Amino acid sequence: MIVVMKADLPAESPELARLITLARSYPGITTEVHRIEGASRSLTEVYLLGPTHAVPTAPFEEFDSVEKVVRITQKYRFIGRHDAGLEPVGFEYNGVRIGQDRLVLFPGLCAVDTREHVDATFAALARHGITTTRAGAYKPRTSPYDFQGLGKACLPWVFESAGKHGIRIVTMEVTHESHIEEIRRALEESGHATGVMLQIGTRNAQNFELLRAVGAQNEMPVLFKRGMGITLEESLNACEYVASGGNRRIVFCLRGVKSHLGEPHRNFVDFAHVPVVQRLTRLPVCVDPSHSVGRRSTGADGLLDILHVTAQGVIAGANMVLIDVHPRPEVALCDGPQALRLEEIDDLVGDVTIVRRAYEERRARHAKTR
Ligand code: PEP
Ligand code: MN
Repeated sequence: MIVVMKADLPAESPELARLITLARSYPGITTEVHRIEGASRSLTEVYLLGPTHAVPTAPFEEFDSVEKVVRITQKYRFIGRHDAGLEPVGFEYNGVRIGQDRLVLFPGLCAVDTREHVDATFAALARHGITTTRAGAYKPRTSPYDFQGLGKACLPWVFESAGKHGIRIVTMEVTHESHIEEIRRALEESGHATGVMLQIGTRNAQNFELLRAVGAQNEMPVLFKRGMGITLEESLNACEYVASGGNRRIVFCLRGVKSHLGEPHRNFVDFAHVPVVQRLTRLPVCVDPSHSVGRRSTGADGLLDILHVTAQGVIAGANMVLIDVHPRPEVALCDGPQALRLEEIDDLVGDVTIVRRAYEERRARHAKTR
């Protein structure tokens, strides 16, 4: 059961303390208080955990400072909307706000290879006023003989370059629990030159120990990528592992699913699930057109398939776009064939601006006619 307090309630409110005492007076009930950033205001929610079926809602609804009491459905206890009873949660991290009410672009390197490429990429982003990017240091590869990423050795200069170009968030995949501490320490040693969003890749979508590990820390948000060969429900449950560990700053990322039916694309594009995930959960939703499409083919209309698919995610209301770019895709050590060139960032930004505007107009129009 979740008791949603009225907006902007002070943490030391005596009513909140009385409410918690009341909750704990029921047998076996424990409480957790969460402060969350809602779409338009900050909220306090009190979670009642344990045998809540025996706890009535009425005594809680009587408190002046209570907005509503929501019974949690079995599914997605922490990330779920619970029949639209709860509003989405966004978060602010290192000065950047991410939420279901906005869109943020994260173009960047699939894998960090050289200092020059990192610097050139971040500089190009800075020229477009983009402060959010991706840079893979630990790469999960299908073959053990492929480039595995530079690992912790590159973190100091990646963070230094990010700081130099005003990058606020770098998404970076972790494939082992020890990487979290390596990143945390390198960030600290860089004087927090930037921020990192820990990425869980599709291959680790059901690595429950890793999910628990990123969920057990609160310093860095988590970008959870949907499992490529499991159902949406299974992926959402896996994501719930992160939230149940205590970290609620999570973005859910769609990146295509594995199926020969998607050929000639690398994966079958699943961006029709953007509104589904937004309806079922409180999380912002990201799309990754690069790992979905996997190649730089151009349509008969002259537009890259990757841009078409990006537009599909954005018109569906995506809140974040994770997309591969590289200064020289032909020499990239990982996923070069799907990377946009730095000169194409301009196309990307222009295209996304048009489509996002169209999405907002659609939403306003439907709100008026409803
Ligand atoms: C990536 O984003 O670098 C990546 C490996 O993606 P995925 O886990 O979706 O394959
Ligand atoms: Mn990749």
